[in-house]
Amino acid sequence: MKKLALHWQIIIGLVLGILWALLSSAIGWSSFTIDWIAPFGTIFINLLKLIAVPLVLFSIINGVAGIGDPASLGRMGGKTLLAYLITTVFAVAVGLVLVNLIGPGKLMDQESRIDNRISYEIWANSQGYQIKDGINYLQDPKFMERAKKITDLSRAELQDASVSSKLETADSAKQSGPLQPLVDIVPQNFFSALADNGLMLQVIFFGLFFGISLLFIPNEKSKPVIEVVDSIMEVFLKMVDLVMKAAPFFVFALLAGVVSKMAGDDISKVVEIFKGLSWYSLTVVLGLAFMIFVVYPALFKIFIKKVSYTGFFKAMGPAQTLAFSTSSSAATLPVTMECVEDNLGVDKKVTSFVLPIGATVNMDGTCLYQAVAVVFLAQMHMIDLTLGQQLTIVLTATLASIGSAAVPSAGLVMLIIVLESVGLNPAWIAIIFPVDRILDMMRTVVNVTGDATVCSIIAKGEGLFNYNADKDPNEDWKLKEKA
Ligand code: ASP
Repeated sequence: MKKLALHWQIIIGLVLGILWALLSSAIGWSSFTIDWIAPFGTIFINLLKLIAVPLVLFSIINGVAGIGDPASLGRMGGKTLLAYLITTVFAVAVGLVLVNLIGPGKLMDQESRIDNRISYEIWANSQGYQIKDGINYLQDPKFMERAKKITDLSRAELQDASVSSKLETADSAKQSGPLQPLVDIVPQNFFSALADNGLMLQVIFFGLFFGISLLFIPNEKSKPVIEVVDSIMEVFLKMVDLVMKAAPFFVFALLAGVVSKMAGDDISKVVEIFKGLSWYSLTVVLGLAFMIFVVYPALFKIFIKKVSYTGFFKAMGPAQTLAFSTSSSAATLPVTMECVEDNLGVDKKVTSFVLPIGATVNMDGTCLYQAVAVVFLAQMHMIDLTLGQQLTIVLTATLASIGSAAVPSAGLVMLIIVLESVGLNPAWIAIIFPVDRILDMMRTVVNVTGDATVCSIIAKGEGLFNYNADKDPNEDWKLKEKA
C-alpha cells in the first residue's frame, strides 16, 4: 500500500491534536492534556532547536567553503540580502494596503472607539507624545466623565504582567544607540552565542568568518576541515530524519497542548477570543494567504518556470506544516533545508548559505502582520496615521522583522518597537495577544516559504537549480526511512 505523504500525516496529527484538545476541554480533561500530552510537543520543539543551532553553524561554514571563492560569495551574499529586503518591504506594503482597505479597527462600535481614543490621549499626554491627527477629546467637556473612568483602565492595562515583561524586553532592545544592532552581531564569546538561541545572528557571523578564513588557507590544510564539516552536516540531517519520523505524533501533542491552554475547560472561550478580533485576524490571514498562494507561486512562475503550482506546495509541504505546528522558523530550518534541497533540487551550496540567513533575517509574514496590527490598533483608537507615519511603519516593521528571533511570539515583542515608532501605546499588544498564537503559526509558514522562494531564485541565477518534476517529493523521506 502506498504510504501517506509525510505532510498529510502531519496534517492529520495536527487536526487530531485540535480535536483532542476540544474534546478534552469539553469533558474537563484539559489539565490531563496539559500535564501528560503537551510535554511531548515541547520535547519536539526542543529536539528541533537542538539540531538547528549547530546545523546553522556547520551549514554556513559548509556553504561558504562550497562556494569556493570570495568574489562569488560576495555576489551571492549581496543578491541574497537584496532579495530578502525586497520581499520584506513588499510584504509590509501588502499588509498596509489591506488594513487600510478593510479597516478592521473601524468596524468596532463607535462608543468603544471613543473610549479607546480618550485612553490613548491620556497615555500620549503622560508620555509627552505629540498627537499628530489634531483631534483632542480630552479638551471636550462632554467627555470629562468618561475620561475619569478610563484613566484607571489604562493604568490597569499597563500593569498587565504578561505585557510588562514583553515591554521590558523591547525596552532593552531600543535603549541602545543606532549601531547597537551591528555591535550585537559580533559575539565576544562564541560559546555563549551558541548557548543562547536568540543569538542566531552571532552564530551566522562566526560561521561566515570561519568559512571565509578557510578559503584563504592552503588547500591541504582546509580540505580535512571541510570534509569533517560536511560529515557533521550529514549527521545532523540524519538526526532531522529520525525526529521527522515521529513528527505526526509530536505535532498531535503540540497542537493538543496549545489549544488546551487556550480553551481551559471551556471551549466557548476559544470562540469568544476570536469573535472580538475576527476582522483583524481575517485581514492578517488574507494578507498571509495572498503571499503564500499568489506572490510566491508568481515569483516561481516568473523566475523559475519549471515548478508547477501544485509541485511547489508538494515540495514545501513538510516544512510548511511543521512551521505551522511549531511557530518557529528556526526549529523548522532543518526540514526547510531538506525540502528545498531534495524536493526542489536546489544545490547544497546555496541552501546551506541562503536558508540559515533567511530563517533569521527574512520574515515576510511577521512584517506583514506587524503592519496590519499597528494600523488596526490605531484605527480602533480612532487615530488617523499620516502618510509619514505609515512610511515609518514600513521602515520599522522591516527592521523589526529582521531583528525578530525565529521563535514563537518574537514578532509580537518587536511589534512594541513598531508601535512606539509612530507614537502609539506599546501596552496595546495586550489587545491582540489572545489571537496571537494562531496568527504566529500562520505567519511562520509565510516566513519559511519566503526563504525557500528566495533561495530557489538565487540558485536559479547561479545555475544551481535542478528541479525534477517527475520526482516524488516523498521519495527521499521514504528512502531515508529504509536506510
Ligand atoms: N514565530 C515567527 C518565526 O519563527 C516569528 C514571529 O513572527 O513571531 O518565524
